[in-house]
Amino acid sequence: MKKLLSVVVPCYNEAPVLDKFYTEINKVSHEMTELGFEFLFVNDGSKDETLKKIEELRNKDPRVRFVSFSRNFGKEAALLAGLDYAKGDYVVVMDADLQDPPEMLPKMYEYIKSGEYDSVGTRRVTREGEPPIRSFFARIFYKLINRMSKVEMVDGARDYRLMTRQVVDAIISMREYNRYSKGLFSFVGFRTKWLEYQNVQRVAGETHWSFWGLLVYAIDGICAFSTVPLILAAIMGLVFCLAAFVMIVVIVVKTLAFGDPVGGWPSMICVILLVGGIQLLALGIIGQYLAKTYLETKGRPVYIVQRTEEDRELVLA
Ligand code: UDP
Ligand code: MG
Repeated sequence: MKKLLSVVVPCYNEAPVLDKFYTEINKVSHEMTELGFEFLFVNDGSKDETLKKIEELRNKDPRVRFVSFSRNFGKEAALLAGLDYAKGDYVVVMDADLQDPPEMLPKMYEYIKSGEYDSVGTRRVTREGEPPIRSFFARIFYKLINRMSKVEMVDGARDYRLMTRQVVDAIISMREYNRYSKGLFSFVGFRTKWLEYQNVQRVAGETHWSFWGLLVYAIDGICAFSTVPLILAAIMGLVFCLAAFVMIVVIVVKTLAFGDPVGGWPSMICVILLVGGIQLLALGIIGQYLAKTYLETKGRPVYIVQRTEEDRELVLA
């Protein structure tokens, strides 16, 4: 019996690239003769023809499977669904836009097959074709999060990753609502091999990330894998208390020794503004964690499936 490799592809409005993607991955699947393949497309509530395209592929090739969401739940949710539904002994996660080169797959599989690794990740060593300002903030983000979190986040790491069943099961055992996959992959551990490659631009369609979206994603990532901001808030409070204490002593001594010349209204306002600002900042930080806790305790499902290829076949039969 051949081992089965599941290719999980999250798709959100990817109709223009799907045919091209299928051609490429199909080619690779014929090169890797020692494995059986399934292509599991996760339609993340696309508004274009994506689902129709996927169903056309399904008609052509029974190895194509799909899971279609009831609305857009985001890439993290699509990834989880893909891992949940994948049946393979090995699973690879790949973007639909060919930014994760399918040609790398045979090499990735070599490492897994050797038995020395449980997981093969990929990282971009260049960020070519990306706005420089975005690369700049990305660098800062990785510096920050690695300082703040015990879980190591690799700069430039993609979600393109080949895993054994054991790793997949570990990842889907974590059902948290606020998912930050880079952190989750790294949190589960296992022996990971990193392969490097040059950045590839999307073949067609558009990126789904705005700068603002990335910023919010970064903050989510930090909150999900570190509580250091809370400690910083506490330390800030402590420092200000100490400063205030020193000031009190200074003022009391000054008044007793030199009398009490009233003045310093502007400096007072500055201090009030500064302290007020810091209080709000600390509240905001606490609020972030509280909000995450709130969402988490509701225990809502990460995604809702509208139908899969099995439902479709039932209707057609
Ligand atoms: N994606 C998704 N749901 C979303 C946004 C994106 O499933 O809400 C998918 C998208 O179809 C693609 C992958 O996630 O396959 C990466 O998206 P994109 O190429 O826009 O991100 P980038 O490569 O620019 O980081
Ligand atoms: Mg992309």
